[in-house]
Amino acid sequence: MKFRGGYNIDLKGRPGDEIKTLPEPDALYLSLRTARFTFSEVCVADGGRVSLGEVLARDPGNYSVPLLAPRAGVVRLKTAENHIVIEDIATTPEEPVRAEETAPHIARQMGSGGIMRYKLLTLGAWQFFYDAHTGSLPEPFRIPQAIIVSTVNCEPYLARGDVQLSRDLQVFSRGLEGLQSLLEYQPIYLVVPDIESAFAWQLREKDRGYARIRIVEIPMKYPNDNFTILARNLGLKPDNGPVWALRTEGVLAVDRVLTASRSCTERIISIGGPAVETAEHVETVYGYPLGQIADSYVGKANARIINGGVFTGRVIRPEQLGLDSECTGLTVLPEATEREFMSFARAGRHKRSYSRFCYLSALRGRFEETLTTAVNGEERACVSCNYCEEVCPAGIMPHLIHKYLYNDDLDEAERARVDLCVGCGLCSFVCPSKIELAAQFADAQDRIRREHQSKGVAQ
Ligand code: SF4
Ligand code: SF4
Repeated sequence: MKFRGGYNIDLKGRPGDEIKTLPEPDALYLSLRTARFTFSEVCVADGGRVSLGEVLARDPGNYSVPLLAPRAGVVRLKTAENHIVIEDIATTPEEPVRAEETAPHIARQMGSGGIMRYKLLTLGAWQFFYDAHTGSLPEPFRIPQAIIVSTVNCEPYLARGDVQLSRDLQVFSRGLEGLQSLLEYQPIYLVVPDIESAFAWQLREKDRGYARIRIVEIPMKYPNDNFTILARNLGLKPDNGPVWALRTEGVLAVDRVLTASRSCTERIISIGGPAVETAEHVETVYGYPLGQIADSYVGKANARIINGGVFTGRVIRPEQLGLDSECTGLTVLPEATEREFMSFARAGRHKRSYSRFCYLSALRGRFEETLTTAVNGEERACVSCNYCEEVCPAGIMPHLIHKYLYNDDLDEAERARVDLCVGCGLCSFVCPSKIELAAQFADAQDRIRREHQSKGVAQ
């Protein structure tokens, strides 16, 4: 595969290899909105008791994907807006769910393959699947042209696949086997950072006999692990059908459902960033109170908590009270109370510039850098430095598209292929003028999509 663009920076506060278990909470706060899902169909009553794995709500716009109870307890619907709260938590064991009994019509109509897909959907594993081309939830009962499984996460602070695998290589291997049983003859691309590493050889040993699993290596540079980029580089065109994509935790969830018939409410997430006292991976359940995590991990009172990675995550709003079901990590940055005036024009030993010429840091060689929310400098006009184009993995010209959008010329932006942007955020990161390019492009893609829909143009 031939990759273009990309950029890595050495950042302080990356989580280590250990996985710690968070203490049991007193209550869980299950957010009804995540990046992809809106669980608007609430299935439980205020004050009722729920058992572990019971359906609390569904998203009718996404194949009725369920929000499952991560613990048994009493439901409160009025305690926090847009949340289902579970109190009086009990750690009772979960009964395995026999989908053949609960959905005999699926078993009759679609056989064992249909039952497996139904189980993945209803027991919470389907949430780990992405359509590689659109980032949305794929249709569970369609056959994809291929599956991409990535064991790599290049976002510096997010949960790493190798850490999740360190305990569960056997389980991962069984999960791959489960995935293969969902396909007819389509390939599974297994993405690893080094094809010759001991880890890749272990996987090869385990997966001997699975001819359709192809191991592919990617250069460890952000954002080469992006599913859209991987699909494009593997030559998997949208016209040939959907491409499913999932990461290590998704494969582990597939095994949990297909082997043990149990729900997937546990998460291994990372808590990292320069404002975290000890960055680490933690095992917990979704709904875990964010306040409790902040009390244990966030050193500085004035810190910004981001749901996801530093490049693509979204700032957590004060109304959100618990970890949402799609969270793969929290990134915590010290909040800069004021920006350094003309920071970009000053030489500095402690901050790096993509340009490599602006700062004395260029003389220091590689060093770990501390990010703040100011990311140095003030927003100003594009200076045509071309850095955004150099790092862009999609091969488009962000500065040019920015100028079209600045003049509100959506047609020209479309001709310049703003649709190819994968939202990695690198252009915004390296831009010395601190222009919010990625956010502008996401907005433009949304406007173009809506315009096409209103005109009835096929996507
Ligand atoms: S234009 Fe899009 S794909 Fe290119 S660097 Fe910016 S966010 Fe990434
Ligand atoms: S990186 Fe920023 S300043 Fe440089 S060309 Fe791109 S948009 Fe303009």
